[in-house]
Amino acid sequence: MTRLILATRNAGKLTELTAILAAARLDHELVGADAYPDVPDVKETGVTFAENALLKAHALAKATGLPAVADDSGLCVDVLGGAPGIFSARWAGRHGDDRANLDLLLAQLGDIDDPHRGAHFACAAALALPDGAERVVEGRLLGTLRHTPAGTGGFGYDPVLQPEGETRTCAELTADEKNAISHRGKAFRALVPVVRDLLG
Ligand code: IMP
Repeated sequence: MTRLILATRNAGKLTELTAILAAARLDHELVGADAYPDVPDVKETGVTFAENALLKAHALAKATGLPAVADDSGLCVDVLGGAPGIFSARWAGRHGDDRANLDLLLAQLGDIDDPHRGAHFACAAALALPDGAERVVEGRLLGTLRHTPAGTGGFGYDPVLQPEGETRTCAELTADEKNAISHRGKAFRALVPVVRDLLG
């Protein structure tokens, strides 16, 4: 069985990708980067989600000698020309301060009316092999931004993004409901044939 490493210390992402690979009957053992604590975190110097996902996957594949999967994601707001984009996690300045990021975004969009509040979550998922081979695929979740947050589930910008065709925000969906339509779910599912193609 081929071991496949996922470049994340986030248990939720590991569970999600494990379930997707199992549903596709892919016979690969998936382990998180935590299993290789000596591998240093890579600097995300890319300017697109795809570049950053590839950077992380290559770094892990090179350090471990095993095939590696990485993802990079964020929120892209139409009226902001795609921002926060790759800066989503540190939009308000401090990496990972979800509440501050969300508050700043809502303040910036304060005068913007509903017809112009389109946005999407985007995710790039990359597979890299130790020999340098690489593939990258992308997934999107389209929606609109609420004026005030709603819901307690999820993380990040979930309380303000209402998916197309939904009356609830992402933070009001169950984890299964969100995974079924999410940018990450779509990107990971698109990666299945790629894994099959490169790894058999
Ligand atoms: P990462 O790719 O997991 O590092 O996510 C980057 C940032 O994008 C997160 O910190 C969130 O701010 C935002 N983000 C990415 N995916 C989601 C999501 O599914 N819901 C809410 N925010 C997200």
